[in-house]
Amino acid sequence: MNSFEFQNPTRILFGAGMADQLGEQVKSGGWKTVLLVYGGGSIKKMGLYDRVISQLQQVGAKIVELPGVEPNPRVTTVRKGIDLCREEGVDLILAVGGGSVLDAAKAVAVGVPYEGDVWDFLIRKAQIQGALPLGTVLTLSATGSEMNGNSVITNWEENLKKAFGSIHAFPKFSILDPTLTYSVPADQTVNGIVDMMSHVFEQYFSSTPDTPLQERLCESILQTVIENGEIALMEPTNYAARANIMLCGTYALNGGMISVGMQNDWATHMIEHEVSAIYDIAHAAGLAILFPNWMKYVYRERIDRFVQFAVRVWQVDPNGKSDEEIALAGIEATRAYFSRIGAPTRLADMGIGEEQLNRMATETVRFGTVGSFKPLNEQDVKAILQMSL
Ligand code: NAP
Ligand code: FE
Repeated sequence: MNSFEFQNPTRILFGAGMADQLGEQVKSGGWKTVLLVYGGGSIKKMGLYDRVISQLQQVGAKIVELPGVEPNPRVTTVRKGIDLCREEGVDLILAVGGGSVLDAAKAVAVGVPYEGDVWDFLIRKAQIQGALPLGTVLTLSATGSEMNGNSVITNWEENLKKAFGSIHAFPKFSILDPTLTYSVPADQTVNGIVDMMSHVFEQYFSSTPDTPLQERLCESILQTVIENGEIALMEPTNYAARANIMLCGTYALNGGMISVGMQNDWATHMIEHEVSAIYDIAHAAGLAILFPNWMKYVYRERIDRFVQFAVRVWQVDPNGKSDEEIALAGIEATRAYFSRIGAPTRLADMGIGEEQLNRMATETVRFGTVGSFKPLNEQDVKAILQMSL
C-alpha cells in the first residue's frame, strides 16, 4: 500500500424526504443569493423545482436561475453561469439534477473567482485557487459528483471533453434522497449502473500490492450494484434498491476513499471522454462498450487481479480452469451483465464507425500516456477503439 492523504469535506444528508432539509442547509450557511442550476426540465416534471423554490423563498434567499444544463454539459453554459454569479452577487451555487448539472455547477463555482476563461482549468493552463460554495440535490445515481471534486465539461466548438479535480470543488453539502430517483427512466438507470461500476474498475484494477481492504470495498460495491441494479430496473420505485444504488454511486467515487494508497487507472474514462466529445453519446454508453475491451487488452499485466475479480465478483468457478480462462470468464461476465441490463456493446450500436478513430486516439493522449495498470500510448488507445467498433 502506498502512503496517502485523504480529505472529503462534503456533508451528506441521505434518506427519503431529505430534500425538505434544503432550506435549513441554506439558512445555516448564511447564504443570501442562490444560483439555482438545473437541466432540461426533469426536476419540474417531478415537482422538485417547486419544492426547492418554496424552501429558498421561506428562508428569504434571492434566487437566480441557470436552467438548461445539457447532458455532457457545455462550457458555454458554464460561462453563462459565471456571468450571472458576478452580475447578481451570488454567494451559493445550488445544483439540482444529475451529474451533468452538478459538474456544470462546479465549473461555475471555480470559474467565478478566476479572472481568465474557465476552460483554462480543463486544459490545465491554470490551477484552481478557490471557488464559491456549492450545494447539491442529486436526482440520478451515477457519477459520484455529489461527494467529489471532479467535473467533466464539453467544449463543443472544439469537440473536446475534459475533466478537472480540485479540493475546492467538493460540495459543502449534498442531499441524497433516493425517492428523487424513482422517475429516472430505465436507460438512465442503466447508464448510472455502468458508470459507477466503471468508477470502481478504474480504481480496483491497480498494480499497487497489499491492499486487501480496498479491494474488498471495491468488490462489495460491485456486487451491491449488480444485485440492486437489476431490482431497480424491474421495480423503479423499490426504495431499498434505489437507496443501495445511490449509496454505491457515492462511495464509488468520493475522492478516492475506496482506493486510498492505490494507484488508479482512469484510461477508459479518458478514452470515453473523447468519444462523447465528438459523438455526444451518454458517458456510460461509451464506458459499457470500451471497458470490456480495455480489460481484454490489459488483463495479462496482472492476471491475479482479474482472476480475483472473476471469482469474487462474478462467482466464476475456478476449478479445472487456467488463470487465463478464469480471467476471460470474468471479463465475459462483465460484458454479459452490461448487455443483459440493456447497455450497448459496440460502437456500431451508437452509429460510430472508424472515421474519427485516429483523432480520438490522438486527443486521448494529449497530456501523455493514459492509465497506470498498463500505461497506454496512442497506438494502444487506437487498438482498444478498434476492438470496440
Ligand atoms: P446526466 O447527464 O446528469 O442526466 C441524464 C439525463 O437524465 C438528463 O436528460 C436528465 O434530465 C435526466 N434525469 C436526471 N435526473 C432525473 C430524474 N430524477 N428523473 C428523470 N430524469 C432525470 O447524467 P449523469 O450520468 O448523472 O451525468 C453524466 C455526466 O457526468 C457526463 O458528462 C459524464 O462525463 C460526467 N461524469 C462526471 C463524473 C464526476 O466525478 N464529476 C464522473 C463520471 C461522469 P434533465 O436534464 O431534464 O434534468
Ligand atoms: Fe464516469
